[in-house]
Amino acid sequence: MNRTAELLAFDQRHLWHPYTSALHPLPVYMVAGAAGSRLHLADGRELIDGMSSWWCAIHGYNHPVLNAALTEQAARMSHVMFGGITHEPAVRLGQALLQIVPAGLEHVFLCDSGSVSVEAAIKMAMQYWSAGGHPEKKRLLTVRGGYHGDTFMAMSVCDPVTGMHHLFRGAFPEQVFAERPSCRFHAPYNPADAADFLTKIERHAHELAAVILEPICQGAGGMWFYHPDYLRMVRDACDRFGCLLILDEIATGFGRTGRLFGASWADIRPDILCLGKALTGGYMTLAAALATRAVAEQISRDGGVFMHGPTFMGNPLACAVACASIGLLLAEDWQGRVHRIEELLKAELEEARNLSGVTDVRCLGAIGVVETAAPVNVPQIQAFFVDNGVWIRPFGRLIYVMPPYVISEEDLTRLCRVLVAGVKRFHR
Ligand SMILES: *Cc1c(COP(=O)(O)O)cnc(C)c1O
Repeated sequence: MNRTAELLAFDQRHLWHPYTSALHPLPVYMVAGAAGSRLHLADGRELIDGMSSWWCAIHGYNHPVLNAALTEQAARMSHVMFGGITHEPAVRLGQALLQIVPAGLEHVFLCDSGSVSVEAAIKMAMQYWSAGGHPEKKRLLTVRGGYHGDTFMAMSVCDPVTGMHHLFRGAFPEQVFAERPSCRFHAPYNPADAADFLTKIERHAHELAAVILEPICQGAGGMWFYHPDYLRMVRDACDRFGCLLILDEIATGFGRTGRLFGASWADIRPDILCLGKALTGGYMTLAAALATRAVAEQISRDGGVFMHGPTFMGNPLACAVACASIGLLLAEDWQGRVHRIEELLKAELEEARNLSGVTDVRCLGAIGVVETAAPVNVPQIQAFFVDNGVWIRPFGRLIYVMPPYVISEEDLTRLCRVLVAGVKRFHR
């Protein structure tokens, strides 16, 4: 057996991959390296990356600036505890974040992953109300079609169907769900779209700690883009009915939708903001929950403390890379790049709209989505994509791309054409 075959055999027998069976795992491809917007397979093939490793690798892979930030920090220290200790990478990252997030968010809680930042944000909201004399405000309101992570409280606000709530019934509190916003991002806003949300927030305000949403773009819950006016409506309703607003920008943050944050489209500020994924340019796991002064002050009044503290909190390697990644983003014309990607995605994917078996095509920023009537046969279409030199990982009825911002026009064109060819071939 050659080396790759041996590794794959062990993997298949012993390693669990995301959302897979231990007994009948889907095939996996062995990646030996990656650079720019290409993945290098162990068998020598090169794939154009359409996924940015799940929203993360905005600058592409193996970036010299990020590599240097990582190795320079490793030479000083890779990790120290954050209890009773601080360090320059964490402080610099805090400064960089406060420069770019909506004004008024002033307190940064660093943690290890997106899901954990969602847990921290929810805890902040609950502690805010209990410190304010309302310990009964502990439930959450969200919309259907959302995704907020795989830990328990995060799961409780994921879409009940695609988030598989039935598997865990009774293990987490039942939250309040409003209909998914139906007004598309590019269509005129219909105020009737707000009705279900407004009914729910009014009915449940007395027991709600917060509303939690992905602004503008719902990611893993359905790749759905909705109207900024819906978000303004939510902000306004939270203020009127006395709920905090948590915006989960773990997927939308750092320019993916064409603005630096999804919230920028509606020009609103959440009370608590979650960041992750592209925070380190896809180098390592790091996330943050940021709170306004008002939230932080209320949690901390009368000697209160925020009750969370992960072991790897503020990991210096991750913070150093995150600083470098934010610096890199702001130093280049990211908005121009994302805009050019959007224009190309729109032009190239349009052809899929009229194919039988396709129900929708939508693009926003550096995200392009083809929705099909029938669920995708993932191993089959994935093999086709790999054979044609691209990396696209569909789920459900969604075949989508969100490439690194550094992808060339040529590579992006090829990515889209193979996507459309795959749809033609497997969905009629
Ligand atoms: C990926 C994601 C999460 C979870 O982040 P992890 O780092 O996987 O824990 C939460 N919310 C949104 C919107 C995400 O896209």
